Amino acid sequence: MSITENVERIREQITEAALAAGRDPKEITLCAATKMNGADAVREAIRAGVTCCGENRVQELTAKLAENAYEGAQVHFIGHLQTNKVRQVVGKVSLIQSVDSSHLLKAISQEAVRQGICQDVLLEINIGNEESKSGFQAEEIPEFLAHMEDFPNIRVRGLMAIPPICQNPGDNDNFFQEMCNLSVDITRKKYDNVHMEILSMGMSGDFTAAIAHGSTMIRIGTAIFGARDYSQVHNT
Ligand SMILES: *Cc1c(COP(=O)(O)O)cnc(C)c1O
Repeated sequence: MSITENVERIREQITEAALAAGRDPKEITLCAATKMNGADAVREAIRAGVTCCGENRVQELTAKLAENAYEGAQVHFIGHLQTNKVRQVVGKVSLIQSVDSSHLLKAISQEAVRQGICQDVLLEINIGNEESKSGFQAEEIPEFLAHMEDFPNIRVRGLMAIPPICQNPGDNDNFFQEMCNLSVDITRKKYDNVHMEILSMGMSGDFTAAIAHGSTMIRIGTAIFGARDYSQVHNT
């Protein structure tokens, strides 16, 4: 199947999953996870109606920006970001979805101040408490958000999570529900500089379940572009 056909099929699945959950399909944004796919593939996805691309390596982001690969769509950063690379990302993407530590948030804030801009971000939650993954613990989020007035050039627009790889359908439902509850709790508390509009969760294998549990942004790679060829990767 072509990229165009894949995007159309995913759109239908989004609509079905949203309606089944009593939600408006327009509430859900499809973010194409474009890692390891070249500019031509990205352009085809955008022609097929993708309005948002997520990149997870700085080097690839920089290369594809130079090729104007994302023209017609927003670009988000969705991978682990090292503090020494924030200059190449802040101001270049409309949303950094993967802020996984207060140390990184500080570095992003300093760079946003330096550029005189406001950077939109999501906080990444390590919802499965996995040692192999970075991210905030759900429990530390309320205390952390209470100090957001210290970062006037940062606007927190929501939460993001990558739950454990699921073996069986339904495996991650409890994690998706915990994320949804956390997002609702934060909205109720009304912190400065915090607007809980986005709940980014759900990938190729589990996005319909994520939508059933309130996801407003799904990040899809494989189901759009096909399996990635990791044999070509030399570094990150
Ligand atoms: C690659 C990637 C995805 C998409 O994963 P698929 O299973 O290929 O859909 C989503 N989120 C992040 C952060 C990724 O790096």
